[in-house]
Amino acid sequence: MFGNVSRRDFLKVAGIGTAGSLALGAGSWALGRIPQRRASGHGGSTTVVPTFCEMCFWKCGTLAHVRDGEIVKLLGNPADPLCEGRLCPRGTGGLGAVYDPDRLASPLVRVRTNGSEKWEAVGWDRALDEVASRLQAVKEKYGPESLALFSHGTGGAFFGHLVSSFGSPNIAQPSFAQCRGPRDVGFELTFGEGIGSPERYDLANAKMAVLIGSHLGENMHNTQVQEFADAIGKGLHLVVADPRFSVAASKAEHWLPVKPGTDLALLLAWIHVIVEEGLYDRPFVEANTVGFSELKREVAGYTPEWAYPHTGIPAETIRLIAREMGAHSPSVLVYPGRHVTWYGDDTQRSRAIALLSALLGSWGRPGGFYFPTKAKVGKYPVPPYPEPARGRADGGGSRFPYANEGVANGLRDATRTGRPYPVKAWMVYGTNLIQALPNVSETEEALKALDFMVAIDTMPAEITGWADVVLPECTYLERFDELWTPSFRTPMISLRQPVVDPLFDSKPGWWIARELGLRLGLETYFPWNDIEDYLDTRLRTAGTTLAELKAVGTLRKPGHGLYAEEGRPMAFGTKSGKVELYSEELKKAGHDPVPKYTPPDPAPEGHFRLLYGRSPVHTFGRTTNNRRLAELEPENEVWVNTDTALDLGVKDGERVVLVNQDGARSNPIKAKVTERIRPECVYMVHGFGHTDRRLRQSAGKGADDTGLITRYKVDPLMGGTAMRGNFVRIERQEA
Ligand code: SF4
Repeated sequence: MFGNVSRRDFLKVAGIGTAGSLALGAGSWALGRIPQRRASGHGGSTTVVPTFCEMCFWKCGTLAHVRDGEIVKLLGNPADPLCEGRLCPRGTGGLGAVYDPDRLASPLVRVRTNGSEKWEAVGWDRALDEVASRLQAVKEKYGPESLALFSHGTGGAFFGHLVSSFGSPNIAQPSFAQCRGPRDVGFELTFGEGIGSPERYDLANAKMAVLIGSHLGENMHNTQVQEFADAIGKGLHLVVADPRFSVAASKAEHWLPVKPGTDLALLLAWIHVIVEEGLYDRPFVEANTVGFSELKREVAGYTPEWAYPHTGIPAETIRLIAREMGAHSPSVLVYPGRHVTWYGDDTQRSRAIALLSALLGSWGRPGGFYFPTKAKVGKYPVPPYPEPARGRADGGGSRFPYANEGVANGLRDATRTGRPYPVKAWMVYGTNLIQALPNVSETEEALKALDFMVAIDTMPAEITGWADVVLPECTYLERFDELWTPSFRTPMISLRQPVVDPLFDSKPGWWIARELGLRLGLETYFPWNDIEDYLDTRLRTAGTTLAELKAVGTLRKPGHGLYAEEGRPMAFGTKSGKVELYSEELKKAGHDPVPKYTPPDPAPEGHFRLLYGRSPVHTFGRTTNNRRLAELEPENEVWVNTDTALDLGVKDGERVVLVNQDGARSNPIKAKVTERIRPECVYMVHGFGHTDRRLRQSAGKGADDTGLITRYKVDPLMGGTAMRGNFVRIERQEA
């Protein structure tokens, strides 16, 4: 068995994506056979089954139309306040996830025979026994804290419960330290509360919105995109600061083609003008904030004239926009975005957005940030989790003092170095860490230091090639899952339920987690008979039942007012109980109490800053193999400024290779030659360039930006990895 296999062998097997060195057992992947009749149980006529989407993290209510046990279409559920009956292209393309012939089809265990390694397709009992015995061995040798969970998606809740019951505090989602973490921490340090997901943005009522490096519309957050489109239709004053002329920029009154990496300079100059010209919301600031005079002192030097050479935005334009913000206050949404791990000072940049928002009085006001509510649903009663003997290994609360969620790269560091203690087993649920974390070499180094890794996913991916055991989960349309009760404008409860039977030998995550829990002697933490018992027990605490949710999919519950009562001081969860324009807490901890600007690292000669972003058709690399979505966007392209292309002789549509400052090379990628991007940077959509050949639709299509992100800075406040400090040169293939 693999327990005896050397690290060298581990490497060899792990290299399947690029080297093709894996000896596949006959039929071991069980690829490519979608059964003629896919499922049974829904009869011959069309049935409409409500559930919710998992094609991205937004979780829109979905109505699945099912005929003869086969999903024929997916539409939005009008009862769902997140989508209001409308799905995005990915949501309607969910069929492609269910009927993807490359799905993981059966449990796989890595075995070694006659000196070579291969995957063996095995039954669930054998695979689960293997996982449980390996985890138990790691626990006995290194302690329960040596197990780390990386997860993304709704089903991760059950694995989080399993790992907490096991006794480990080491749970991380890359969606914190590689995405939205700095934003939430920056707002928590200012207002005492984060932004959350779905975000508390009142775009629907904004008179003015300012997007800074955010390409809403290409970044498809369903509710926000709908509100954004409606607001533009109603005359929203829109400003977009972005080195690229994005779709959002094309709708703006002002496009500010800011130099990449200088957004904080722009924000500080706006704060300067608003303070100096008295454009701020004086009653709000007087009633609700502390540190105004200190803030004024700190931003005194950040004049628009100072900002101009840094940002490339003329001083008069900076003043004009600041005055427009003041005129539309408080209904101005300075949009904090979502993916914000860019330059290493990201929490401070997000804090600058929070400070600007406080000055404009937009917290708790129409058109700014509303107060969300959450439906109250009780937990299924289980004993308290065991108290881990050792604290978090990821640096949260110590090295990264404000990391109030798991830091994925911190866990990777602990695994690589054995400090503060060894992390020897990884459970990886629904996240392709090879494309999610910067510096792939460090991820591989950590993987080689492990005793054991199990991957749970619906699809193969680069990370599953490193696993000792792969457990195939059924897709979101084939399973029950944890309830969805977000903090939102309308409190709500959504149910995910199977709309068809699972294909292949795949199983729901809740079942996998429970089976592992039972094998690990954790039965007191999994006392429910089955998932329906679990869900119904929880739902009854909220005055409803599983039967009711099965019928409607989503229930709206009564909420409270979305906005603060005018004229009444508000309460804030900060140390001072006020909005902290100047943070004594940060100062005491040795950090800047008001953000300070540091220019970004310059590009090496002949190189361009690598920027990356999202597509409305895909969610990271998770959907690029989905044939329905691949029809719309089969590969990515690299945006190159027209003058740059002329200098280099690159033609529109020509394939080029990007080579970064450390020599990392991309797959060939099509050049999009355009005036719509500043000349010192290039841009590509993230999630393409898969190297795992089991992804037969997407392998080798387009280029992977993560492979080019070999350098990253770490946010000192919360551990986030800044990923926009890499530079590429453009190598022509047809020269
Ligand atoms: S935004 Fe699109 S992909 Fe995401 S949950 Fe909603 S419909 Fe699904």
